[in-house]
Amino acid sequence: MTLDYYKSKFAKLRVDSKPYWPDATFNQAPYKPILLLSIMDLIAQQVIGANMIGLNADLVDAFELYWIRIIGASRESNPVMPFNHMRSEGFWRLVDAHGTESDLRNMDRNEIFRRIKNQALFARLDKELFTLMQISDSRDSLRRVLIEQHFSPEVRSTIAEVSYITTESFEYSRNLLNRSRGRFNLKESPSIDEIYITDVRSTAFRRVIVGAYQHTCAVCRIRIVTPEGRTSVAAAHIVPWSHSHNDDPRNGIALCGLHHWVFDQGLIAITSEYTIKISPVLALEEQYTEPLLMLDGAEIFKPFDRILWPARVALRWHIDNIFRSANPYTLL
Ligand SMILES: [Zn+2]
Repeated sequence: MTLDYYKSKFAKLRVDSKPYWPDATFNQAPYKPILLLSIMDLIAQQVIGANMIGLNADLVDAFELYWIRIIGASRESNPVMPFNHMRSEGFWRLVDAHGTESDLRNMDRNEIFRRIKNQALFARLDKELFTLMQISDSRDSLRRVLIEQHFSPEVRSTIAEVSYITTESFEYSRNLLNRSRGRFNLKESPSIDEIYITDVRSTAFRRVIVGAYQHTCAVCRIRIVTPEGRTSVAAAHIVPWSHSHNDDPRNGIALCGLHHWVFDQGLIAITSEYTIKISPVLALEEQYTEPLLMLDGAEIFKPFDRILWPARVALRWHIDNIFRSANPYTLL
């Protein structure tokens, strides 16, 4: 099959048309075009390198970024649906981990969804289509068809911006991992701001840190990942970005929501021996803060790769500048 064949397929995707979909998508369900755009962004960065596409965290992130910018956060995104429904287009098959096409005839929808989410089913594109997506010229013309046929002119610049954020963030992630092999500087030059926009930086930093800590909170070691890759931890800067302009992975740590907040508030700190230090402020409300007090002196969870461990100089800075080391009443 030729490029023109797939261009006409992409122009005529079978999508649901309902008035509740926005004008930006010509009142049509945007699932399929967004999924295809996301996949092409990941192919462009060689994050998808083989024709066995799993619904993993990278793909969900890329899909959700398009969704939030174009459709908004009020309507929940769901990449699982188009992952299944794309089969009706003829160029998309679902295969198992061995690459064998699955017989889905006797499987109900929920079971198919469950298998997609658990990555027991992968998408396989027509071989010719996958090859075309790997070549930048043909990928660009496929993208253009999707954008022109399925999105109104008002949102086309948004789509270009999202694609830029996703692709650049992978480059910045690689840049950060390389940086962690060099000397650690507490402060970086703010000029990096001009090269990478905030969304690129934060996406890349989160990807590197959350990956290094395997989705585990360094403080409480809780690890929750939904089957499609949503995670309970965030990437925290040890020396805040506003002060350090430093996304070096050694200035980062993966923390769950509560522990991120208490760390940023200076209610806990991490010593240079990588143990947890609890602020005396928390002891004032002992009956309510006991689960935190119990962590005093415990060792944190660290990345497997030693070069990604938090920099001691950054931890020291946090203790000196953010950590509340004294009980406020003793200061009166
Ligand atoms: Zn935690």
